[in-house]
Amino acid sequence: MKAASILQPNQIEMQELPIPEPAPGELLVHVMASGICGTDVHIFQGEYLGSYPIIPGHEFAGVIEQIGSAVTRFKIGDRVAVEPNLPCDNCVNCLNNRQNFCLNWQAVGVTQPGGMAQYVSVPEKATFSIGDLPFEQGAFMEPLSCVLHGLERLDLTVASRVLLLGAGPIGLLLLQGLRLNGAAEVVVVDKNPDRAALAQSLGADRSATRLDEIELDAYDAVVDATGAVAVMGRTLDFARPGGKILLFGVPPSGQTMSVEAFPIFHKGLTILSSFTSLRNSYQALGLLKSKSILVDKLISHRLPLQELQRGIELIERGSEPVYKVMILPNE
Ligand SMILES: [Zn+2]
Ligand SMILES: [Zn+2]
Repeated sequence: MKAASILQPNQIEMQELPIPEPAPGELLVHVMASGICGTDVHIFQGEYLGSYPIIPGHEFAGVIEQIGSAVTRFKIGDRVAVEPNLPCDNCVNCLNNRQNFCLNWQAVGVTQPGGMAQYVSVPEKATFSIGDLPFEQGAFMEPLSCVLHGLERLDLTVASRVLLLGAGPIGLLLLQGLRLNGAAEVVVVDKNPDRAALAQSLGADRSATRLDEIELDAYDAVVDATGAVAVMGRTLDFARPGGKILLFGVPPSGQTMSVEAFPIFHKGLTILSSFTSLRNSYQALGLLKSKSILVDKLISHRLPLQELQRGIELIERGSEPVYKVMILPNE
């Protein structure tokens, strides 16, 4: 099979590898759609957990090609998506329902081979049936599950006024999720006018390209989906007294966010973060299958496997409107 392997930071090589043999509790998945995530960009840049070489790809869907001897819930030909996080279920965090902080955490496409290959073998317990959902939509199960965890953390009060900063693929999922959570108003800011316009077509009441157009001290909740520390630091300015802030975007490691501390006290702010997901895959598929969350407009590029590096570089540069770049390893 063909696989795209990150040998070391900034170096991807197309490899010809044997098709993996599924272990008794595993399934062999023929990968049909595999989304590039910011995490893949970080792995490519050498900024993330995990070791090299690694076949990346943790947002994918495909068809079961072969099943291990102990598999009971699936059969060959089933259409599936894969939850990449593999908690051990036995450490102190797993045993307290904090599987996202598992001490023995493994993840498909981060610590073990992922979906940027024609085939990948994955544990049955990480596999979810997508029914007749298109593969590209199934590949959104993982990013959407992270978004749902963030929304659970935010615990929005119905009829809230929300400011959302950043309208990339994750911001646009958050936007729709905030709507489902009963936001009365969602204002979206993105410096890229195309992204701001797309946000409006996906349910934003208003969009803006500059922060100085936004009312101060006004919003019940402010959500950052940029991961840019300079923007994250501004979230405090827009929250109303008693408001909530969700820092969802992933900042680069090693950077400091500078905020004035006094307003945190004086405005009585609640500042939240969100790390991966916590049993949100099933919910994510429910929202995709029911079309409560729409993802087709979030796909800006479809590329063959050998163009993975170009896809990552498109996201890094961000010069043309880039949303989700979908790799189609078997086309
Ligand atoms: Zn991801
Ligand atoms: Zn654990």
